[in-house]
Amino acid sequence: MKILVAVKRVADPDARVRVRADGSALDVSGAPRVMNPFDEIALEEAVRLKEKGLAEEVIAVSAGETDSQEMLRTALARGADRAVLIATAVALQPLAVAKLLRAVCERESPQLVVCGKQATDDDAAQTGPMLSAMLGWPQAAFASEISVEAEGGGYRATVVREVDEGSETVELPLPAVVTAGLRLNEPRFTSLARLVQARKKPLEILTPEVLGVDVISHIETLSFMESPRREPGVRVKSVAELVRLLKERGVI
Ligand code: AMP
Repeated sequence: MKILVAVKRVADPDARVRVRADGSALDVSGAPRVMNPFDEIALEEAVRLKEKGLAEEVIAVSAGETDSQEMLRTALARGADRAVLIATAVALQPLAVAKLLRAVCERESPQLVVCGKQATDDDAAQTGPMLSAMLGWPQAAFASEISVEAEGGGYRATVVREVDEGSETVELPLPAVVTAGLRLNEPRFTSLARLVQARKKPLEILTPEVLGVDVISHIETLSFMESPRREPGVRVKSVAELVRLLKERGVI
């Protein structure tokens, strides 16, 4: 089977990001760009399924600026066979990304799409579920375990997913969309040699126009503001001290 992995280039989640003085946007100019950490996990899972002999091909797909090619080369070094960049300078909302991924799915016919559970820049957690709805495929979001078995002429996946109450196990016939949670696996490191070899792997560049997808945003962001600063915590030695402190601060 063919697995498609959606990978987004984001500002390093450990970098200090500030709101511009006029509140018009986030200033991420000084932050290095990396692969969204949940997408590293999604990719690792796809590569492990291939290593188990369950997939023949893993395709990494990203939508965004042409600089995302570097991140796609990293995805190729980590085991993807092929990469597709949908190049656009337009800031993409999850709905537009889901439409683009649907168009790529229609071209590639993968049996499994693995997304990250959320992108660390917008924390939307919308793209995977929207894509599954658009394709009419089953979905399992926030996966912490995925196993795939051949069944009849096709495949069936069993996914353990994290839910508020603990975990839930679901079975889904493929094709399906799964979004990767933090506990799914630990992504491997990439060696320099693999990065060099990855230069030879195919990287196709498409555009929203070629795919026939309108990526215009229907959401207008009015302003950004920083969260209020929190006072540092203090350690208390007993419940009595905690109660006294809370009373002093007027909390209780
Ligand atoms: P979001 O809905 O923005 O939180 O993103 C959830 C997941 O959708 C990410 O972890 C990626 O797998 C995928 N995704 C979002 N934006 C993009 C993008 N521009 N290119 C490729 N995949 C994306």
